[in-house]
Amino acid sequence: MDRLFDNSDLTRFRHCPTLFVRAATSSAPDSEASEYRRSQYALLKEQLLALLGDGEDCAADTPEQSFAKFRAAAERGVKAFNNVTFVDGSFCASVDAVRDRGEGLEFFYTKTTPKATDSAVAKAAYIDAVASKSGYPPISISVAVCNRSYVRRGAIVPDKLFKLVDLKPRVEEARRVVEDFFANAERLVKEPITCDMAVKCERPDKCEYYAECAAVPRPCMLDFHGIDGPTTYKLFASGCKSLDDLLDNAHLLKPAQAAMVRMYLTDDKLHIDEQRVRAFLEKLHYPMCFLDFEACQPALPLYNGTRPFMQIPFQYSLHVKRTQYSELEHYQYLPKRGEDPRPEIARRLSNQIPHAASVVVFSKGLECKVLGTLATRYRTFGHKLSLVRNGIADLQELFASRAIYSRAMLGSTSLKAVYPALFPGDKSCDYSILDVRNGAEAMRLFTRAQYADAEECERFYQYLYTYCGKDTLSLARMVTMLVAVTGAQVGQRKSHRKRKKKVEQKEEETV
Ligand code: SF4
Repeated sequence: MDRLFDNSDLTRFRHCPTLFVRAATSSAPDSEASEYRRSQYALLKEQLLALLGDGEDCAADTPEQSFAKFRAAAERGVKAFNNVTFVDGSFCASVDAVRDRGEGLEFFYTKTTPKATDSAVAKAAYIDAVASKSGYPPISISVAVCNRSYVRRGAIVPDKLFKLVDLKPRVEEARRVVEDFFANAERLVKEPITCDMAVKCERPDKCEYYAECAAVPRPCMLDFHGIDGPTTYKLFASGCKSLDDLLDNAHLLKPAQAAMVRMYLTDDKLHIDEQRVRAFLEKLHYPMCFLDFEACQPALPLYNGTRPFMQIPFQYSLHVKRTQYSELEHYQYLPKRGEDPRPEIARRLSNQIPHAASVVVFSKGLECKVLGTLATRYRTFGHKLSLVRNGIADLQELFASRAIYSRAMLGSTSLKAVYPALFPGDKSCDYSILDVRNGAEAMRLFTRAQYADAEECERFYQYLYTYCGKDTLSLARMVTMLVAVTGAQVGQRKSHRKRKKKVEQKEEETV
């Protein structure tokens, strides 16, 4: 261990001591999620410093150098400081800004999440303790939280963007955890690693050391969906490791969970309930569309009329099959940097989705929400978008209702799990080899692209196009395959003009 423990170490220690030790003793590269958080933090910090005004910059290569800069400036009588790190023994604590307004030191830092949670209080208590021990006790520790009701109009207005919440009065609440960290951090990094896997390993995101801690060949019983987290990890700790172990121990589970395990793991066959699948498919007709949106929730509003953490659709992929025999057509869209994507998405989709087409999605929550919001906001296209929204068919229902399942899906109903199970060995829709593998990564990459240089933005956009296009192509292939397997009769919706002509012909014949 050749570096000081810092604010992030405390956060990891609180979450999981093993995570703290692994991160403190390895030089693993930052995950894509960490890079995103860091870039969002930098943007918010820029706004906070704009709000607080000029200050002596104490940023440096090492915490010790930063602390030395701060002390030297304070001795010269400087009253405003930015990017300060305090050091005491093996511990250091960073804040974005320090202001000395005569009555004592005021500390400030930003936050990339929308609330001042327990974690924020623990961080404030840690900063308070390290700074006090180093000889600079604060009178306030203000965290700048994004005000979710702030609506961007033109340039960001920092004093409207932030709410400053003083956590100094709450530091006692977290005193014990901070003392625990001071007492045990150095000892823990010298001891052998012990893994105590639990639900925390998957929340808020799957831990970057998950495979290392599980230390069993994958897929294993931890990869099975449909058993509650506490039961899964309890069984795992008791020695149930492989999928076959899970099947052998199914009697220990609640009846519904045991049934799930037996259903998926008893054999390797692909089970398709033809009657139910056919009933689903025969409600569809051509023209048939396959639609997928990606959306982001940036802390710093990207466009006029948007708020911090507001959900904004930024991309769609649309495959269209006009008749049973026609080729798939593909449409997709990403906005130019800085351009609000919503009006263009509304306009393009209204034109590109054929009249009265069947629209198939996978997990309709986001698609329905986006179409509903666009329909309300852009009235010109409202009628068409509402019709599309109300007629959406969600292919995921077939997997959620277990009309289709196989061992390879491991109880999951996500597109990334079911597609490879239906098309084993098909590399053309293999997400594991992509630079963007899921919606969360797409969201982060798009947000980063908005602040990247033109070349990097172009590279990120290529990744996003490849990812989103694969989702709708997978959907189209699954529907085609299921129609063939079940022999479903999927008809052609006659166009309005043809129907009108037919009615006119009938009328003439009658006359
Ligand atoms: S996988 Fe779990 S036990 Fe291992 S470091 Fe991560 S959170 Fe801790």
